[in-house]
Amino acid sequence: MKPGNSILSGYGTTIFETMSRLAAQHQAVNLGQGFPEGLECPEVIEACIRATRAGPHQYPSMLGTPELRQAIAAHAERFYKLKLDWQSEVMVTSGATEALADCLLGLIEPGDEVVLIEPLYDSYLPIIRRAGGIAKLVRLKPPLWDLPREELANAFSDKTKLILLNTPMNPAARVFDRDELTFIATLLDKYDAYAVCDEVYEHLIYDGLDHVPLITLPGMRERCARIGSAGKIFSLTGWKIGWVVAAPKLLQPIIKAHQFLTFTTPPMLQNAVAFGLGLPDEFFAKLKTDLANRRDKLKAGLQRIGFATLEAKGSYFLTADFRPLGFNGKDDDFCRYITEQAKVTAIPISAFYQSDPPDHFARFCFAKQDEAIDEALHRLGRFFGKPG
Ligand code: PMP
Ligand code: GLN
Repeated sequence: MKPGNSILSGYGTTIFETMSRLAAQHQAVNLGQGFPEGLECPEVIEACIRATRAGPHQYPSMLGTPELRQAIAAHAERFYKLKLDWQSEVMVTSGATEALADCLLGLIEPGDEVVLIEPLYDSYLPIIRRAGGIAKLVRLKPPLWDLPREELANAFSDKTKLILLNTPMNPAARVFDRDELTFIATLLDKYDAYAVCDEVYEHLIYDGLDHVPLITLPGMRERCARIGSAGKIFSLTGWKIGWVVAAPKLLQPIIKAHQFLTFTTPPMLQNAVAFGLGLPDEFFAKLKTDLANRRDKLKAGLQRIGFATLEAKGSYFLTADFRPLGFNGKDDDFCRYITEQAKVTAIPISAFYQSDPPDHFARFCFAKQDEAIDEALHRLGRFFGKPG
C-alpha cells in the first residue's frame, strides 16, 4: 500500500483529543481540552431554533449569509471602530480552524518563511508545513512569557511572507499590548509581510485589559487577516462558526482556499450567530466577569494545594508549575498521573512547543461550572494531601 502524505502522517492524535479520551476513560473532571461548560448562550441557541424552523437550508453564499457578514462588520465597528465592507472584506468559515487553514493555504507559496510564536496552537504548524512554508519559531518562556523582541526581529527576513499572531494567547493567556503590537507592525512594514491574526479569544480578556486587533494599528489595514470564532464568544465551540476579515486584495486568495475546502457553512448556525453578535454590551461584559471569577476560583484553589500559578490575562487557560508539589517527572507524565490517580485532567504545556519545551507546567481550563472546578480542586487537594 502506498503511504499517505508524509507530513500529516507524521503527526499523532492531537493532545486535546488524547487527553479528553483519557479523561472519559478515567471519569476525570476534564479541565484539559478548551471548551466551556455552563456558559452556553441561551439567546443564541433560541435564535438557532428559530432559524432552523424558518430555513432556508440550502447552500448559502460561499462567503457566508448576508446577515452574518453584516453582523461581523457591525461587531468590528462597535468594538474596535474598524470599518469593513461586508460584501468584499468578510468571509464566514466553518470555525477558526478552517479560517486559519484558508489563510495559510491561500497565502503561503512553497519556500515562504512564516514567523510563529511558541507556545502555539496545534493546528498551525502542520498546515504551514503542508503548504510548503518554512516555520521560523520564536519562543515565549514561562513563567512571564515575555516577548523577546530581538529574537522576533531576527526571525524576519526578506523571505518572510507572514507572521501568525495569537492574542489573547492559548495556552500562555498573554495579551499583547499596543506597544508590542506596534513593534510587530514595524517589522511587517519593514519586511513587507502579512499577519494572520488569530483573535478567537478577543472577548475573553480580564482585569480591565483591552483587546487591540493588529489590523487597527496605523498601516496594518492592508496587511492583516483577522480571524474570529463564535464558538468562543457564545461558548458554543461545537458549532464551528468562524470568520476572516481582510482587505479585498488580501482576502481574495484566502477565499480561493475556502471555496475548495468547505465552500460554505450551515445557514441556521450562521444566522443565530448574527443575532448573537448584536446582543447588548452587557452580554460581552458578563462573559468576562463570569470567566474571571472562575479563573480566580481555580487559581486560589490550585495555590492552596501548592501549585505555583502563572498570570492568566485572557483565554480559557491557567498554567501552573507542579514542581512545588514534589512531582519531578515531565508534564506529560504529570497530566496522565493526575488524570489516572486524582481523576482531574490537564494539558501538558510541552505540547505547544516543537522541541526542547519547558516540561513542568500544566494547563488547566477554567471555563467550567463552579461545581466542576470545586470538584477538581477537592480531588486534587485530597490526592496531594492539601485542602483545595
Ligand atoms: N485558535 C486558537 C488559539 C484556539 O485555541 C482555537 C480553539 N479551538 C482555535 C483557533 C479554533 O477555533 P474553532 O473552534 O472556531 O475552530
Ligand atoms: N482550542 C482548544 C484547546 O486549546 C481545543 C480545540 C481542539 O480540540 N481542537 O484546548
